[in-house]
Amino acid sequence: MEIVLASKNPKKIKELQAILSKDIPSINIRSLADVGVEGDIVEDGKTFEENALIKARTAYRAAGGMYIGIGDDSGLCVDALDGAPGVYSARFAGGHGDDEANNRFLLEKLKRTPDGNMGAQFVSTIACVYTDKNGNEASFTVRGEVEGKIIREARGDGGFGYDPYFYYPPLNKTFSELSAEEKNLISHRARAICALNEKLKELDIGDI
Ligand code: IMP
Repeated sequence: MEIVLASKNPKKIKELQAILSKDIPSINIRSLADVGVEGDIVEDGKTFEENALIKARTAYRAAGGMYIGIGDDSGLCVDALDGAPGVYSARFAGGHGDDEANNRFLLEKLKRTPDGNMGAQFVSTIACVYTDKNGNEASFTVRGEVEGKIIREARGDGGFGYDPYFYYPPLNKTFSELSAEEKNLISHRARAICALNEKLKELDIGDI
């Protein structure tokens, strides 16, 4: 099964290859650079699904429809903020990928929210664009979610992004206090990859 992942992050490529190859040994994952896409993809969708599809479609079309295109989008959704930061998670405070500023901004916004109303979810969406049995472009998306609570004091030093403030009650730890292995068992991303795995097997679209 030949895949192009709409990412230039070697860690994401390795993670996906490691998980999917357990069930689909023939899997081979390339990066966007491998199919000649150098610039950044404009992620202007209003939902995680739209953004993931934009990326997956770019990968699929850059490879001339020869390979399956996969794209992902993820973020944090806070109940008391009507689902924000959502698709804006990476740039909530303005600059792209400034975790410290994003966390500060998040806590500021939740300053007057009662402790009992701090529910939040991490969401990961993966889109897949492929050539169906009739030779047409087709697509699907899968989603993984994990439910937790935002806390006001950082705990732990692992992970990235909003992890130090995302408390996961079943393990009584924040995501920053989990080992990488623990996080990989329960995270939104792990759940989405698991759903992708099931769907790829079910559709039997590998050999195109
Ligand atoms: P991406 O779509 O995977 O690049 O994630 C977008 C943004 O969502 C990141 O920059 C983080 O701010 C946030 N995010 C996504 N997944 C996680 C996670 O597992 N822990 C903490 N923050 C995350």
